[in-house]
Amino acid sequence: MAQFAAPLSAPTLESLGLGRDRPLVIVDVDEVLGLFMLGFGAFIAEHGYELRFERFALFQNIYRPGATEHLDLAEGRKLFEEFFRSRCDQLEPAPGAVAALNRLRPKAELLILSNAPADAERLRAAWLKRHGLPNALILSSGPKGPITSALVAQTAGKTAFVDDLIPNLDSVAEHSPATATFQHVADLRLRPLAPRSDAHPRIDDWTELGEAIERAIR
Ligand SMILES: [Mg+2]
Repeated sequence: MAQFAAPLSAPTLESLGLGRDRPLVIVDVDEVLGLFMLGFGAFIAEHGYELRFERFALFQNIYRPGATEHLDLAEGRKLFEEFFRSRCDQLEPAPGAVAALNRLRPKAELLILSNAPADAERLRAAWLKRHGLPNALILSSGPKGPITSALVAQTAGKTAFVDDLIPNLDSVAEHSPATATFQHVADLRLRPLAPRSDAHPRIDDWTELGEAIERAIR
């Protein structure tokens, strides 16, 4: 089941098929459950562009082969939106992610919270289903703290949140301080570039991450 929510409101857990009595684990998709840069890089290569891993930013890393200046940001955004409209169901799952979530499933309610264009909803839901990932999906936008806080307020259980981006992790820590936060960066090339923070354990191995989540919600 998939559902939209404005950033500042949240659907009920019931409407997502989730219970209120067990721990709640909220997980991002791009660069957490799915290898976004790999899939997006393949997509833009078909359009004659290349991704370079020079900084932890998306649109400044899109180039025409041989160019020294990155692609115009508006052009990059068009490619990004087209990827989500037509190709985001082609991502490879991050290594170990599916198995780790399957191990968490008996112990927690699992919710996918993805900042992605609205057009992505059908393909993103299909991707989750194809890989046996949880089907409770919210597509959102903006910092994830407010919506996470509204979701967390509905459960009596302990809560955990996983994302690759420090601004989202900081936002959750601010709005939902009791929620355990974890950073995971799936792409090997992004790992050395991704900012980290002492406030959020950085665990790039999904097996270890699953175990840390399990301890946090116990
Ligand atoms: Mg992400």
